[in-house]
Amino acid sequence: MRVAVIGAGIAGLNAARQLEAAGMEAVLFEKARGASGRLSTRRSDFGAFDHGAQYFTARDDEFRNQVEAWLAEGVVERWNGRIVRLSGGGESTEGSPIERYVGSPGMSAIARDLRGDLNISLGVRIESVKRVGNRWTLTAHDGSEFPDFDSLVIAVPAPQAVPFLSSVPEFDREVRLVNMAPCHAVMVRFQKSYDPEFDAAFVDSESLSWVARNSSKPGRGPEDCWVLHSTVEWSASNLDADPNDVTKSLLLAFQEAVGSTLPPTDFSAMHRWLLSRSLHPLRSGPLWDADQSLGVCGDWTIGDRVEDGYMSGSRLVRRILDDKCAS
Ligand SMILES: Cc1cc2nc3c(=O)[nH]c(=O)nc-3n(C[C@H](O)[C@H](O)[C@H](O)COP(=O)(O)OP(=O)(O)OC[C@H]3O[C@@H](n4cnc5c(N)ncnc54)[C@H](O)[C@@H]3O)c2cc1C
Repeated sequence: MRVAVIGAGIAGLNAARQLEAAGMEAVLFEKARGASGRLSTRRSDFGAFDHGAQYFTARDDEFRNQVEAWLAEGVVERWNGRIVRLSGGGESTEGSPIERYVGSPGMSAIARDLRGDLNISLGVRIESVKRVGNRWTLTAHDGSEFPDFDSLVIAVPAPQAVPFLSSVPEFDREVRLVNMAPCHAVMVRFQKSYDPEFDAAFVDSESLSWVARNSSKPGRGPEDCWVLHSTVEWSASNLDADPNDVTKSLLLAFQEAVGSTLPPTDFSAMHRWLLSRSLHPLRSGPLWDADQSLGVCGDWTIGDRVEDGYMSGSRLVRRILDDKCAS
């Protein structure tokens, strides 16, 4: 059985890997130049930055087992950063004693591991899909066609899944209700080492929600690299703001939150995530239509975290296999 998987974030990669493990042939299509999606690392001459997911947690037993295997292989490490909450000029320790994990030496290490030797076409944006007889044909942005797939798995953020769902109107209706919020990520390196006596902070401010010293995570370089994330509300009302203005605004908010002057920076960059996290996930889990042999997964089918992305891929493949056994 040949399965096309659109999207090579953690959900699509895990789905493809598990399909292959069950003896099927999975072919991944990814519009970006690399696999990893929102679990990615931006490299620069000034150091590397995890500009999407910052860390992840593990609750489900299956995912915990996967994390244990990654820990043993050095793909992920525990992050014991000093994490605080900055609120109204004050600072408090972030109380929850949860274990936080990060990919090593960057978040994208996880995608690299999952990718293994999977068949993946990078830089291919799928624009449309059609059912020809009982097979799927995919068409890419440049008009090239990929025919003869028995099944189709869509593993992209909800709004990007909608164009592929016209053959299953219930899915189309359900997925259209899932909104995903934007987020601006600012990456800076300070000219000299800056130690505000924490490694990361949840920030209660109008514009800034999170700051993290990337270099406090295990396996990173010595450069004093920081990542700043905006609040959803601020991003929504500053969607098209100039990158320099975004950087200035978030650095100013950082300075106000710590209550002292920040050192000058010698590198800054900005990335705008238009679809960063789902505000109202489906929660019911991945979708599978046996008649059309079409499945949908992605973090937003369960929640809004890395673990949800991974588990959505696993749960979808379980449904596909159950269906195959029953028929
Ligand atoms: C700023 C930010 C901070 C976050 N912080 C955390 C955190 O601290 N902890 C945590 O657990 N989670 C965090 N998350 C969420 C986490 O990153 C996601 O839950 C997880 O990475 C989602 O994986 P996914 O595979 O479902 O989707 P994605 O990673 O979005 O993967 C989808 C892939 O599909 C590709 N694609 C889309 N359309 C097409 C198309 N038409 N053709 C081909 N390819 C296509 C995309 O390029 C992408 O690679 C954060 C996310 C962001 C953006």
